[in-house]
Amino acid sequence: MSKFWWVNQGQSYKWESELRILWSPLATEGGKKQHHWDRMELLSPGDVVINYSEKKIRAVSEVLAPQRSATNPHLGLTDLEWQRDGREINLSMHLLDVPLELCDIPEELRRSWKSPGSPFNIHGGINQGYLFELSDDAGLWIMKELGLTAEPTDDLADAAPGTSDDQLELVIVVGPDGEFTTTRRPEHARLKGYLFGNTKLNACALCGNVLPNSLLVASHIKKRSECDLGERGDLRVVMAACALGCDAVYERGYIAVDQAGIIGIGPRSAETDHLRTYVNALVGKRVSSHTPHTAKYFAWHAQWHAQK
Ligand SMILES: [Zn+2]
Repeated sequence: MSKFWWVNQGQSYKWESELRILWSPLATEGGKKQHHWDRMELLSPGDVVINYSEKKIRAVSEVLAPQRSATNPHLGLTDLEWQRDGREINLSMHLLDVPLELCDIPEELRRSWKSPGSPFNIHGGINQGYLFELSDDAGLWIMKELGLTAEPTDDLADAAPGTSDDQLELVIVVGPDGEFTTTRRPEHARLKGYLFGNTKLNACALCGNVLPNSLLVASHIKKRSECDLGERGDLRVVMAACALGCDAVYERGYIAVDQAGIIGIGPRSAETDHLRTYVNALVGKRVSSHTPHTAKYFAWHAQWHAQK
């Protein structure tokens, strides 16, 4: 289960975000330990760090590994030069296009959690120090506000192997056992917004059944890895397909959609009676996402599976 942390990075943000690390000294000039530095010991891989600098949340990060000893990366760069020995934590950082202001976070969330480890003071302002523990409530609120939460059923794991960090964004998934971090393609939220709008229930484009959005996926009509950049940017390259079966039987070619938008038996033949029954129930239905614009995507799908 992921925990949330808050880091205050004044001038160190510039360097630490370039290096994608957190860094803190071991002790003060006088040899004293500091709770907000020692907290580095508590971070685990998969935890989420909220990067705060100059009155704004500028990035959210995922912890990649526990802390390890490291010399000060700021030497010669900032006034932190007095301290040489410290520890660092490697992050996968996701810089925000639009930073989030502190005052955007509801005051009750900033005031509700009284703990010496909290980043917020009793007035809802920021405590002095480097690293703090953020309550789950506040952490989840921030991730939600940034559009960085996902359902356990979202198709999160299908980013092509070798996709670089920069092409993915960090999301937090709230499942039955708590929350955990994962990554997804940035366009995912945009595609879901396009398909589902603000309504909680929508119809599967293939079987036509109405389901909660958590049981529908943004299914690529044309396989995403085969789309060119223009097609990837085309919202209409996806349809809402149910996770109860339609998404899978379409993607694997058990069904295909003809020029008129009617579902037929696909190039891949069903191996079991159960699957055959599922496919046959779809045959003859009209696909709601089939339009003159999307016909070419459905045609690609039918042809691609026929060649396999
Ligand atoms: Zn369906």
